[in-house]
Amino acid sequence: MKKSPEKHALRWRRTKIIATVGPACDSEAMLTRLLQAGVDVFRLNMSHGEHRSHARVFARIRRLSAKMHRHVAILMDLCGPKIRVGRFENGAIELKKQAEVIVRCRGGIGRAGLIISRYRQLYKDVVPGERILLDDGNIELRVERVAGTDVHCKVVYGGLLKDNKGMNLPDTPVSVASFTAKDREDARLAMQLGADYIALSFVRSARDVRSLKQFMKRNGHAIAVVAKIEKPQAVANLEAIIQVADGLMIARGDLGIEMPAEQVPLIQQRIIEQARGAHRPVIVATQMMESMIEHARPTRAEVSDVANAALAGADAVMLSAETAAGRYPYRTVRTMDRVLREVEYNQWQSGGFDCLAPAQVVAKPAGEAPSTRMAVAHAARGLAQELALRALLVPTRSGLTASILSSVRPAAPLLGLSSNAETCRKLALYWGIVPFIIGEVDARNWKNMASKVCRECRLARKGQKVLLVSGFHDRARLSEPVLKILSV
Ligand code: PEP
Repeated sequence: MKKSPEKHALRWRRTKIIATVGPACDSEAMLTRLLQAGVDVFRLNMSHGEHRSHARVFARIRRLSAKMHRHVAILMDLCGPKIRVGRFENGAIELKKQAEVIVRCRGGIGRAGLIISRYRQLYKDVVPGERILLDDGNIELRVERVAGTDVHCKVVYGGLLKDNKGMNLPDTPVSVASFTAKDREDARLAMQLGADYIALSFVRSARDVRSLKQFMKRNGHAIAVVAKIEKPQAVANLEAIIQVADGLMIARGDLGIEMPAEQVPLIQQRIIEQARGAHRPVIVATQMMESMIEHARPTRAEVSDVANAALAGADAVMLSAETAAGRYPYRTVRTMDRVLREVEYNQWQSGGFDCLAPAQVVAKPAGEAPSTRMAVAHAARGLAQELALRALLVPTRSGLTASILSSVRPAAPLLGLSSNAETCRKLALYWGIVPFIIGEVDARNWKNMASKVCRECRLARKGQKVLLVSGFHDRARLSEPVLKILSV
């Protein structure tokens, strides 16, 4: 369809796709198709399913991606202190506008006029006038008074409330810990299986992320942590969270309930910009292709949402129920892939992928001596563009150098080369990075390595040039950046 040099430059999609695994796609056949369709990261949602089935799916993904020579990351998403209602005598109750209802913080079963809260401390946290939102915010209660462990409420917006639906407390500073006992068990599983990322839900402060990291450290592990931004407190503490987290997820489902939905688009933009400034990968999640759970085509609004996330500079876009429980998991990923490629084709045609002014990116550094790194990264981007180099080759041990290059959104294909398979899988989440495994020996001879990579990836013909970028270190004094133009 598209002629060279576009064809070369746009061979790899830059914005990554995350697919949540569930009954609709966990078979060997469907996982294979999703890999073929271009999934970069699989998400296992610990809110559902048992450890045994997660372990089975985990092993299946690893086996299939190895067979297909794909470096695909697995993200295990801890449910955090998700508050839910209990069960009802008949599976559901009808809540009528203006009706009185009691939310009880003890054991038992719900019935007309009585809801059981699985969060037993609720009565200590809420005060009269605050809102209790149920079932993704579709039902709203207002607290009238608290008597013992019973919270007396009035129904503001009614509806049918079914067993185990979610509860959000947008006005209440909830005392429950972000890292729960269940999360600890799930994190143990993630460590045992060797997950590439672990996501923490309902993060409120940097301390929540540190607790998870310390827990893993005590157990001898250091899985990269993605902080899910879905609470107003997390938005308020964004800068500190970005410093300690290894990635961010804009979890728009709960965020849009906990905060006025109309604020979500601008918060999304701000999180993307700040995360990118600190070269942390950022994921836009939830309801991106929601209608494809049932239908074979997305709505035009959904297509625009995916395109806008890419235009705004997100590293990855995420599918939830669309792939986990929908009727068209493969078709949804294919559609998302096409939308993203169309955006990238147009960005490339109009001069590049860099939607933020470089100054904005440099202005929000993380860690030590960022300005040198960013200056080198910008120089690398400029060199590659000006000299029409065929690719940026970035040998990277921990992934740091490649992640910094990714944050400046170069136009040339960006290959993250590592002798460490874990690093390659981690890089799968970052915008534009094509992970490539190299041998330890290759890593020592750049010229040979470049020739080999170019041959295997059909990146460049004899005599064509690539740019090698290397030498960043997390400690500034050990950083010795190198830019080397190599003839293949
Ligand atoms: C969300 O709330 O948007 C989200 C991604 O979290 P979960 O799917 O765990 O509810």
